[in-house]
This record gives sequence, C-alpha cells and structure tokens, in this order.
Amino acid sequence: MGDFYELFFDDALEAAGLLNIVLTERGKTQGNPIPMAGVPAHAENNYLARLVKLGRSVAICEQIGDPAATKGPVERKVVRIITAGTLSEDELLDAHEARPLLALHIENNLCGLAWMDLCKAEMRLLEIPTEQLESELARISPGELLLSEDGQDLSAPTSAAVQRIGGWLFNQQSATQLLKDAGITNLEHLGCQDVPLALAALGAVLAYVRTTQLDLAFSLSSLVVEQSNQQVFLDSVARRNLEIDRNLAGQEKDSLLGLFTDLATPMGKRLLREWISSPSRNQDLINSRLDAVAALQSGNCAELGDALRQVGDLERVTGRLLLGTASPRDVGRCRASLVVLPQVIALLGASSNELLQVLITQVDPLPELLELLQSALVDSPPPHNRDGGIIRPGYNQELDRLRILATNQSEALTAYETEERIRLQQPNLRAGFNNVHGFYFELKRSSAASLPDDCRRIQTLKNVERFTTPRLLELERQITQAEKQALEMEKRLYADLLHRLASAGPALRCNASSISQLDALNCFALTSSRLGFRRPQMVVESCLEIEQGWHPVVAEKVDFLEKNSLKLHKQQRTAMITGPNMGGKSTFMRQQALIVLLAHAGCFVPAISARIGPVDRIFTRIGAADDLAGGRSTFMVEMTETATILRQASRNSLVIIDEIGRGTSSSDGLAIAWAVAQQLCCNIGCFTLFATHFFELTSLGDLLPNLLLLHTKVARSEDTIVFLHQVSPGCADSSYGLEVAELAGVPKSTIGSARQFLSNKVLQDKSESGIASRLQADMFIPEPENNTGVDDSNSIEEQQKTQKNQAILKELSKINPDDISPRQAWQLLDQLSSRVDKINP
Ligand code: ADP
Repeated sequence: MGDFYELFFDDALEAAGLLNIVLTERGKTQGNPIPMAGVPAHAENNYLARLVKLGRSVAICEQIGDPAATKGPVERKVVRIITAGTLSEDELLDAHEARPLLALHIENNLCGLAWMDLCKAEMRLLEIPTEQLESELARISPGELLLSEDGQDLSAPTSAAVQRIGGWLFNQQSATQLLKDAGITNLEHLGCQDVPLALAALGAVLAYVRTTQLDLAFSLSSLVVEQSNQQVFLDSVARRNLEIDRNLAGQEKDSLLGLFTDLATPMGKRLLREWISSPSRNQDLINSRLDAVAALQSGNCAELGDALRQVGDLERVTGRLLLGTASPRDVGRCRASLVVLPQVIALLGASSNELLQVLITQVDPLPELLELLQSALVDSPPPHNRDGGIIRPGYNQELDRLRILATNQSEALTAYETEERIRLQQPNLRAGFNNVHGFYFELKRSSAASLPDDCRRIQTLKNVERFTTPRLLELERQITQAEKQALEMEKRLYADLLHRLASAGPALRCNASSISQLDALNCFALTSSRLGFRRPQMVVESCLEIEQGWHPVVAEKVDFLEKNSLKLHKQQRTAMITGPNMGGKSTFMRQQALIVLLAHAGCFVPAISARIGPVDRIFTRIGAADDLAGGRSTFMVEMTETATILRQASRNSLVIIDEIGRGTSSSDGLAIAWAVAQQLCCNIGCFTLFATHFFELTSLGDLLPNLLLLHTKVARSEDTIVFLHQVSPGCADSSYGLEVAELAGVPKSTIGSARQFLSNKVLQDKSESGIASRLQADMFIPEPENNTGVDDSNSIEEQQKTQKNQAILKELSKINPDDISPRQAWQLLDQLSSRVDKINP
C-alpha cells in the first residue's frame, strides 16, 4: 500500500510480535477495530530475512492496478511466496552455504530424498535406508523440508523449516512429466528408475517450487542421481566430532573448512564445502583434482585468485537472472564477471593439466553480451529498478530526450520562450510557471492585443496578460509526464536487457560452474602451499600409511607441533592407543580421519607423505555428552553410537573410538570396551583407532598379534609432567590421572588423599592376589614385546626401574639434536634427568 507492506488481522498480531514493529488499527469489522502492522517497502528484505529465519513463509501481495486510473481499491495480487528453501535474493541467502529445498518420501525402511538449490536449478535424488537419514540430513543441510501431511513424524533432528504438504504431491508421474516439460528426458539413463521413492519426492519439490514462485519462471538445469557408494559416508556424529564445517560450538572458526581462507568467490566456497562434506570415492576423480592442484601450485595461483575474486557469485546472479528476481546490481555483477573471464582464460591457457583445460574450454566470456552490458548499464547500478537510474546515457535516444525533459524543465521552457518570441514577433515575451495555472507566457497588456487564435488568455494581472497555447500545454504535459515516461521507458529497456541475459543463461551457468571449480581447486593449492600440505598417494590396496602427519587445526593453535606417523595395513588394521589425558590421543586419531577426508576431497594433506587405500565410511565415537534434549544419558548416547558403528562399519571403514564404556561401572564398561575392540579387530576388520583408559585392554595385544599398540609419551619431572605429544609403539607407563588433575588445579590436599588411597589399594590388591595389580591408575607395564604377563612381586620394583631406565635411554637415542630448539633441549634434559634421579636416588 503505497510505500508500505501492511499486514492485517492475525498476521498483523503475529508479525508485530516477531518483528517488534508497531501494532496499530485501521477501520472496523463488525464493530471491532482491525489490527494492522506495516513495514516500509524499501526495507522489505530486512524483515523478510528475519521472518524466514524464524521459520515463517511470507506471501507478498503487490498493487498491480494503476492507483491514478482506479476508483476504489487498487487491484492486488499475490506475486510471490517466500519460503526458507526457495529463496534467491542475495540479502536472504547465506553466501557461503547452500540451504536447499528437500522433500522426503519414506516407505517401510527406505527413504527417498529429492532436493533442489533453486539458484543453481540443480536437482539431486538419493534413496537410502532410513537409518542413514540423520547423516544425510546433516550433509545436505536443507533450509526447508517437505513432508507428506499424512506421513510419519521425522525422528532425525533438523534445523530446517518443516512444511507438511498434500501426500498426492509426492508423485513419480508428475515429476517425470515436469522434467520432460523442462527438456530432461533421459531419466532412465540418469538412473531414475532405481530411485522411485526419490522421484516421487521430486514431484513434491517441483510442485512446491511452482506454487511458491508463482509468476516467476524457473528453469531446471540438471538432475543427478546420487549413489551412496560414490562418496565416503560420514555419519552425523563423525561430521560433528571431526568439526568439518563447524566447530563444536557451531561456528566455522577452528573447523576444517575454516582453514580454507584463500577462496575467491562465495560460489567456490559453497562448492568446496560440498567437496569436503561429500568426499568422493572415485579415485580417478580424486587424482584428477590432485593433478590440477599440483599444476596450480606450480603455476600462478596467486594471480589466478585475484582474477577469480572479481568474478563474484556468478552462480547466484545467474540463478536470479533466470528466475526474474535479479536486481540492476546483479546485472552489474554479471558484467564485472564477464570482463575478467578472458584474463582467467589467459592465465590458465598454457596449462597442460587435463582438468584445468576442460574447465577453461567451458568458460565463454560472451563478448557480445558484455558489449551490450557495457553500453546499456550505468557504472554503478542501483539496488532496485523501481527508481530508474539503470540505463547509461547515450544508449537510447528517446530515453535521453525524456530524461532531459524531466530534469531540465527550465531549459525546455527557455527554448519554448525563444521559439515563441520569434513566432509571435514579441521580443519581450516571458515564459513562466505557477502552481495554479501551470505553464504560461506573459506579455505587457499593450502588446497582447493582436495574438493568433491559438493563444488563449488564462490570467489577467495589473500590467500583464498570461496566455497558454496548445504547444505550451503539450510541453507541460510532456514535462510533467516525462519523469514517469522516462521511468517506464527505462523499465522496458531493462526488461529487454534481462531478457537478453536470460537467453545467455545456460552459458552463464556453465561459466559459473567452471569458475567455482577453478576457485575451489585454486584454494586447495594455495592453502596446501601455505600450510605445507603434501600430495597423498591414493592406492587400491587396503592401507593407511601416514608419515609425520598433523592435525591442521591444532597446528594453528600450538607453539610446538609434534608430527606423528601411523601405519595400518591389510594384516594390521587396529591400533589401540593409551596415554594420559591431554597426551594427544584424540588429536592423533582425528588427524588421521581429516587426512583421509581431505585426500578424498581431492586436496593435499597435512603429512609429509600419505598412502591411502579405499575408505567407504568414517565413523567416530568421541567423548561423552548427555543428549538432554533427546532424552538420552551419556551412556545411552555412547552405546547408540557404538551400535551404529558395529552395525554399519565394513572392512574398508575408518572407525575412531575415543573412550568407550566410561559412563557405567568400571567392570561393565571394561567388558563392553573389550568386546567392542575384539569385534572391530577380529570380525569387522575395519581400520580402527581405539583410545582407552582401560589399561586391561592392552593385554588384547598378547591375544591379537595384529593389534598395534601405541601410546602418547609424557616426560616426568620431580613435581609435574610434560606432554610430549609423541605417538610411539607400546603402552603408556602410567595413566598420570593424578598429575593431570593437579595440573588442572585440583587442590594439593585432595591429590594427597588420592595418592594415599591409591597406595593402600595397591597394597591390598597385592596381598589379595599376590601379583602386580593392573589397576588402571597404575599402568606401569613393559612394552608388549617384553611383556611376559606375570611379574614376581618381590622383583617388581627392580623390573620397573630397569624398564624406566630403558625407556629413558630409548627416548635419548631417538633425539636428533639438530631437530630441536635449545629451549626444547633444555626442557627435555630437565625432565629426563629428574626422572633418572627419581628412579636411581
Ligand atoms: P587426549 O585425547 O590424550 O586427552 P588431546 O588430543 O585432546 O589429548 O590433546 C590435548 C592438547 O594437546 C590439544 O588440545 C593440543 O593443544 C595439544 N596437542 C595434541 N597433539 C599435539 C601435537 N601433536 N603437537 C602439539 N600439541 C598437541
């Protein structure tokens, strides 16, 4: 309504609360005032963004009639429905993340998924067992979720706005027909017949998009049927624990994605997020990306980054151009992209890399379109087309004339005055304007007697007479209408421009796709160079061999980084890791998962070298947390995650277990941990990294020769311990629980009582069993090869001394003085000498 969007009745009540805007009244119905609230039209997107974030949909009504030509209410129409999953406006979308519209169609234990990113006009289909739904929702991260109104409730958690729609919309036939209408006919070839539930879900997506976009044309560009065996599957727990695109607090900072700061475009960032969220299992694809990264590293990737930066978000700009929601600024962005494309082509033209060549040949700088945009569009286009100011002067003569008329009233009047003085031979004639009579010319009374018939007197003053003529009336009409006409003319020219741009849509989409891939690859190259990542070797044999790897996020945080190696292969697939809290176990295990994930995304990895065989899934069971909202205790969460791993892991899976069985009694917990370790190592045979404080578990090393025992090293000085973060073969020599507690600030008196309790317990255990107790808190043990299993209680002290001395000698022998700083050397010497003093007082 004029400059406002207004809401009435319940909408007004709700919006006033949600948006914190004034609630007022307009008119009455049945004697009661009608509630009303409104937002200014120019700030529309601010308010829409807030409503969409709150999970609301908004129907937008516009006046479509001409208020000047209408008596009574002006005709209005719903022109668009804004919903979280069908957004295209820049201000409403997250630039760095796609939040697609997803529909689910569940039958028995199978779930069909169809999702679409409206700006990309790309549809994806997938059919999975329902138990994988939670993980896929975490990967796809939909903005809006469509469910059948007669379907079951969704048990998997989601942050999407959930909409229930008619069950009949989940229809394969209508999906097939709509796809055919859009020119996508090779459905069998794409594999659609294998995913009937997903195709039915696509029916709902397409119907919903049609409903919400109303008059807007939406084009469908591509349809992809995903196979779950094409990607390294990450369940939602692994995705969260490994902090792939968000840290545990839900922010991008300190996540794996957060390391990739060298991206040049938002579309490149969305693609890179997709690559690391859905790592590929296709080694040809991985190797072609790795080749391209290597080629970019040896080329001019910094210069390329600068050029790509100017391309901007061509993907979404193109989406809006095709949807008809583009702003003049978008057209300007499109022009800026096209300007820089020849430079991108020139920078990569000489590269012999196959993938880069393919991407470059797909880039079309569209010179004719660019020329058109350069001649038609002003340098800095406005954000809206409603006020004009879009078309460059000189592009269209009629527009120029109208603009001159509109802006140069006085010039036009002066020109008229000159013309009329000559025609009427009245050198003193003066033209003017007033609000009552509009335009006029005036003459002294004495000169006004003999004017031609077309001069009509309109006002008589004391000394002068004022006249108008058909020509002057026409001029007045032209001037007062010129502004309106200029605006209309400009809108027509702009619509024509949009039409020309839309017809170049497929080429623009292709450019956007190539440039985002180049950006993501170039970012892999730049980040790998900056952080010292090396190219992994992808092999077909089953192995995970990481030489001096590191955790790339931890590396950014610590002063001194310890690099560690891991070698798992066909015969030895399980590693059990012991060591104190804070020793570096979790870091070590997570870094292996991140290395595997990065390699499968096609990026170099944080390791001196890496040989990586096929991996189908990554699972994690890390830490302990209550799921209070979900009504599950720590132990229940732990066991649910464990059950998923045991049910779903295959021989090619990578499983990370960081503590298990801690949420129940020690004996139950130990029994469960023991059984799980055995199951993973012997029956499933997946690659497993298993960190535990149950020291008893390390005796599995005696039973299972293919179990690799590792521990994180600690240096002990008189009154404290230093974590070396080195991962070495064998078991930890102590849990150091009390020392860690002391470091954490637990009062000395409490630590003293704990020590007393411990020594009493050891004595009691010794007297009860006669053999050395393997109390978890007293993990003095030999390295596995020396472990005879039974100790003579009388000689235990001597044995421990010898082992400790040997351990110190071993550590000394491993030190390369060239590799450590003077400060580290001093620290090490201090720790070692105090340990020697303690053992041999
Ligand atoms: P744990 O799982 O054994 O309790 P973490 O893996 O959580 O230990 O590591 C604790 C801290 O130690 C990390 O937050 C990090 O600051 C540091 N750390 C771990 N590994 C390394 C390493 N390889 N080099 C340097 N610092 C490390």
